[in-house]
Amino acid sequence: MLVVMENNVEDSDPFKHLIIDNDSFLNKLDDRSSCPICNKSRKYFCYSCYVPVKEIEDKIPNVKLPLKIDIIKHAREIDGKSTSSHVAVLAPDDVNIYTYPCVPEYSSEENVVLVFPGKNAVSLADAVLEFKRRKDSGSGENRTREESTSVIHRAVFIDSTWNQSRGIIKDPRFKDLRCVVLENRISQFWRHQEGSPRWYLATVEAVHEFLVEFYRVNNQIEYDGRFDNLLFFFRFMYSKIHVLYDSSSLRAYKRPMFLSGIQKRKKNKQESESETIRND
Ligand SMILES: [Zn+2]
Repeated sequence: MLVVMENNVEDSDPFKHLIIDNDSFLNKLDDRSSCPICNKSRKYFCYSCYVPVKEIEDKIPNVKLPLKIDIIKHAREIDGKSTSSHVAVLAPDDVNIYTYPCVPEYSSEENVVLVFPGKNAVSLADAVLEFKRRKDSGSGENRTREESTSVIHRAVFIDSTWNQSRGIIKDPRFKDLRCVVLENRISQFWRHQEGSPRWYLATVEAVHEFLVEFYRVNNQIEYDGRFDNLLFFFRFMYSKIHVLYDSSSLRAYKRPMFLSGIQKRKKNKQESESETIRND
């Protein structure tokens, strides 16, 4: 289906329906301080060690997750620009970040999902059903290893550009993992990625979206906002960027929702206010 997308998405306050702690104390931090681990000068948190600076360590939210999150970062992703660090700083007990090609060995027995729109990707609801069936027909050993009532114990995310992620995904170590695809959510990420569709989320947005869907699927009740604080730094930085630049002039917000291969090449040659896109 061919549709024309005008850029009429409501961007003024995309976080207004979320339950995120007050972040005004971040504005009061005038100076940079040194990271308690590596001693490098940092403003809010260390994006290499994933710890907050001393001044705010008791003030930022601590988010508990119902499963473990692994983030695989491309070696060329610049630490200071990646939003993976937000997830690790705000949910320190449940998040690990690895730099590709140093990744853990996953086995198909471990109930791990890879969040990536691969060829055989299924929805989260279908993945949960699949794991439940496997568990019901599985041995007692699987049951004793269960960490919670959930059948998915770990979710793996790839933090890289859209093009880099397609290279990482071919790594044989990921071949046994069930790929899940998230429902489309419009990205609020302000970094422009050449050729990436607008649904290609910043890592912290993808983790948050995954957890919201996971909560709904797992508990069969409406989501109550318990993971929204993962966007604590993201909302703060979004609002700072939008004070500096008018959002209509930020290229990242002119990305269409969907892109086919031909359109990606075309898009590299032309930037226009509204774009013809293929919705398939
Ligand atoms: Zn550090």
